Amino acid sequence: MLTWKDVIKFAVNGNPTPDNRVEKTENEWRKLLTPDQFRITRLKGTERPHSGDLCSTYDEGKYNCVCCDTPLFDSTIKFSSGTGWPSFTQPIAENAIKYEKDDSFGMVRVEVMCNTCDAHLGHVFPDGPEPSGLRYCINSESMILDKEALNDN
Ligand SMILES: [Zn+2]
Repeated sequence: MLTWKDVIKFAVNGNPTPDNRVEKTENEWRKLLTPDQFRITRLKGTERPHSGDLCSTYDEGKYNCVCCDTPLFDSTIKFSSGTGWPSFTQPIAENAIKYEKDDSFGMVRVEVMCNTCDAHLGHVFPDGPEPSGLRYCINSESMILDKEALNDN
């Protein structure tokens, strides 16, 4: 299980190697995504709280990257944080997510991205529920819920 110490280690010393890499130009992504998906995942935008479709969904399934379809989270690690964004306590696999220090807006935060295609997903904070203590705060627009996928684990 990942804890805040692991997150900091990845952000400072480098991230785990992903299973695959998907790389496209900005124009190629723009054609594949909706304007909101493009703004959030490729330009590091943030959706308004409580606006996302996946915020209050607790159906079983996997949450895949909207850009490259790699599984990032699943419904067993989703929890209600009350923040208005989908929240998770762990990634689906240690190497699914990439971490980078983000000091924009006068705050020091840890940005989380898809480790396969570098899509911006959101941020991770050390105030989540035990035992991991992590809260991955993720934009709905950066994921698609695959409800068929849980049984092949
Ligand atoms: Zn991706």
